[in-house]
Amino acid sequence: MNEYLLLTPGPLSTSEAVKQAMLKDWCTWDDDYNIEIVQAIRAKLTALASNTDDFTSVLMQGSGTASVESALGSLIKNTDKLLIINNGAYGKRIAEIANYLNINAIVLNLNETQLPNMAEVEEQLQAHSDITHIAMVHCETTTGMLNPVAEMGALAKKYHKTFILDAMSSFGGIELNMAELHIDVLISSANKCIQGVPGFGFVIVKKTIIEKCQGIARSLSLDLHAQWKTMEEHNGKWRFTSPTHVVRAFYQALLELEEEGGVKARYNRYKTNQQRLVDGMHTLGFETLLAKELHSPIITSFYSPTSNKYNFALFYSALKEQGFVIYPGKVSDADCFRIGNIGEIYPNDIERLLSAIERSRFWLEA
Ligand SMILES: *Cc1c(COP(=O)(O)O)cnc(C)c1O
Repeated sequence: MNEYLLLTPGPLSTSEAVKQAMLKDWCTWDDDYNIEIVQAIRAKLTALASNTDDFTSVLMQGSGTASVESALGSLIKNTDKLLIINNGAYGKRIAEIANYLNINAIVLNLNETQLPNMAEVEEQLQAHSDITHIAMVHCETTTGMLNPVAEMGALAKKYHKTFILDAMSSFGGIELNMAELHIDVLISSANKCIQGVPGFGFVIVKKTIIEKCQGIARSLSLDLHAQWKTMEEHNGKWRFTSPTHVVRAFYQALLELEEEGGVKARYNRYKTNQQRLVDGMHTLGFETLLAKELHSPIITSFYSPTSNKYNFALFYSALKEQGFVIYPGKVSDADCFRIGNIGEIYPNDIERLLSAIERSRFWLEA
């Protein structure tokens, strides 16, 4: 039995059946694992990402960051140049990875509470014609902002750049078609909107791109091309020990996404959760960091109360005692806390949360 609901950007609360799926030990040599689980997952992921067959998916051990590192380090050559759009902690992390891997990069550092200015991005592309790749975060989990993926894809297409999207916290929760949006590479992980448990991430990439990337990787275990080749040639085999229980749970989570009615239905549930949360919090006197039109249906940043009796740690424990775990803020220049609404969370959970928050407004007491 769970003692609390995770209202965080991952790991998140999962269904009983997803947890149950982990109660068997699997052998990685058997077809009932490799073909029926791993290969089936890979096919389902590419089908979720596009209606064309230009894409392939590669699963990679580790947290989501490992998959971002694997993709950047395996797809971008020493002679290439990467333009990074940074308007939050995850954009900054892409820049850090590029720095660790000695990837030539230009970082466009932007305000965390504003959308990237597309004219400014275009200026960079014109000023640096040697840029080969563009990387951006889709839902910037720092603030909850949804970045302009269609506009960025259109620019990438116009200037013939490879577009890499960190869709970690949005894939499976927001409909998106890689072919239509001109996304060449998309990265996400098991424990976000697909509602699995943590342990691996995945990269969905154009076949014509990954085919040409042999020998680029700067890391043995994170070599995306080698992992792809092995999965392709050996029916879903991973190069090194695969997180079997986590993979089995992820397969169950994908079935549940289908049962719910697909990404569109899940998006609607998340959106209902988020709107109810923002409206209810507003009634309780809380303001959101972002303007309404910038919000994703994934996670929301609220300004911390200004009363000097307020303290995040106390607020956090008061809510946790009542069965809800919220998240600290991550914005550099504003005092905030965050509440996520993805995972096995329904509108009535949000109602219960709002009542718990109302009961926990100890800082209002005289
Ligand atoms: C969760 C997340 C990541 C990856 O985080 P890990 O802690 O490595 O799993 C990367 N980018 C975004 C936008 C995220 O929300």
